[in-house]
Amino acid sequence: MCGMRVDPETARARGLALIHDGREYVFCGKGCLLEFRDDPAAFLDPRHLPSM
Ligand SMILES: [Zn+2]
Repeated sequence: MCGMRVDPETARARGLALIHDGREYVFCGKGCLLEFRDDPAAFLDPRHLPSM
């Protein structure tokens, strides 16, 4: 989600996957997941550039 490669199975096993709008998003870390959960729209905005 933030541009890093994340293996979905690994992310799921670590609780770093989230379903949003029927799509599954996986994250490299808890920080990314929480950021997404706080403001999914910002992540889904194509103009958004990840700051990490
Ligand atoms: Zn990340």
